Amino acid sequence: MWTNWSGGQRSAPHATVRPLDEAGVRAAVRRAAASGRRVRPFGAGHSFSPLAVTDDVALDLSALTGVVGVAGRRVRVRAGTTLAELNAVLADRDLALGTLADVDTPTVAGAIATGTHGSSPKVGSLSAQVTALRMVDGHGQAAEVPAAELDAARTALGALGVITEVELTVVPARRLRVSQARVPLAEALAGGYLDGHDWAEFSVFPYAEEALARWADAVSPDPASDAQPEPDGARSASLRNLVESRLVRAAAVGGGVALGRSVPRLVPAINRVATALTSTGAVTDLPHRVLVARPVVRWEECEWAVPRERLADAVGELLAAITERELDVAFPVDVRVGPAETGWLHPAHQRATGWIAVHTAVGADPEPLRLAAEVLGGHQGRPHWGKRHRWTASQLAEAYPRYAEFLTVRDRRDPNRVFTNPHLDALLGH
Ligand SMILES: Cc1cc2nc3c(=O)[nH]c(=O)nc-3n(C[C@H](O)[C@H](O)[C@H](O)COP(=O)(O)OP(=O)(O)OC[C@H]3O[C@@H](n4cnc5c(N)ncnc54)[C@H](O)[C@@H]3O)c2cc1C
Repeated sequence: MWTNWSGGQRSAPHATVRPLDEAGVRAAVRRAAASGRRVRPFGAGHSFSPLAVTDDVALDLSALTGVVGVAGRRVRVRAGTTLAELNAVLADRDLALGTLADVDTPTVAGAIATGTHGSSPKVGSLSAQVTALRMVDGHGQAAEVPAAELDAARTALGALGVITEVELTVVPARRLRVSQARVPLAEALAGGYLDGHDWAEFSVFPYAEEALARWADAVSPDPASDAQPEPDGARSASLRNLVESRLVRAAAVGGGVALGRSVPRLVPAINRVATALTSTGAVTDLPHRVLVARPVVRWEECEWAVPRERLADAVGELLAAITERELDVAFPVDVRVGPAETGWLHPAHQRATGWIAVHTAVGADPEPLRLAAEVLGGHQGRPHWGKRHRWTASQLAEAYPRYAEFLTVRDRRDPNRVFTNPHLDALLGH
């Protein structure tokens, strides 16, 4: 039995194949195609949507790992390498990824396939850092993706083939000073905050009036020059609080989530307390040490990409709708930003984007996710492919100007639809 990270997606594949190299990937695809079976590659299974679910052949990429080479500002890496492994190799060479997700457990190929992003007004998602890809197509042939198809392949939902290697642009490693503070929601939403730093996000618990803002800026390479006092006192406590409090704000919130589920009417009070208890402070270190979270509970999640100029209205409307319906949302709504992207199916395609994520406890009423789809979809929102949504082909055709071209590339690379499942059929057609 295969399950994703949240446990919300399960499947019993006919077979699970774990190739040790690209030849193994080719053989697995050819065997499956010859017997009329479908193939779904999977990485760390961190997607909340059923992209990787299959009752045919599940292709486990966890043995296809490691850095192939580093040349200047480019790194070439095998598809199943986790972001944590890549961060460590890059740090040893004084290099870093230009953007980081909340967690480093996903694989490089899984992250780019779904458009996984961080929160910077200037630096795009991991897909945007892709400079070359090697892929096994539906005939079982391995080749570099031609430049003309790279914008289709960089965020391809695993529908164009099995990625075996990825080349990414990297940047010189820079220490970041990460700060966290409670601020009025209006202040967090003002353009100057989210757009004014190298990295910035905020979280807001429904029913709480304040937002928990976190922002980061590069500091000088000389560690002595940024040895400033930590507002919260001991550096170690500040570091622990800041790093552990990402997304799910410390174990107290996890407890609040459980309590909120059993006594839903306590949720507004829990949320206010969780906001008030969250520490303020600052810490300086390498990005992969201070921007990556270690979640203490699991959840379900949807995330919507709205045009940047609609972000403030969309967040306000969503919070008002949750309050009006008295929904039990004991997780913070997370708000991030990103620049326009070139990937044909990337949710930030051709428009600067505000990202809004809504979480619910595993097994809880999914109504908050449905409401988010309604409210944020109404603001021209496009769903994050790795998170919960119910979009189908007609919505993609309307929202993505290069959708038809993507389908043409799909027809060429996988004419017999080896790389599909019912979820992808709904998104891309048969
Ligand atoms: C706790 C948590 C935190 C998260 N934080 C963020 C965040 O900060 N920002 C963000 O944008 N997202 C975030 N996500 C979503 C997550 O980054 C994406 O869902 C990502 O796809 C997960 O990578 P994975 O390796 O688990 O891929 P999987 O979920 O295993 O697969 C995702 C897709 O990639 C395809 N795929 C995998 N490997 C290959 C391959 N070799 N070739 C072709 N296709 C392939 C699969 O078929 C599937 O379609 C988070 C998820 C969790 C659970």
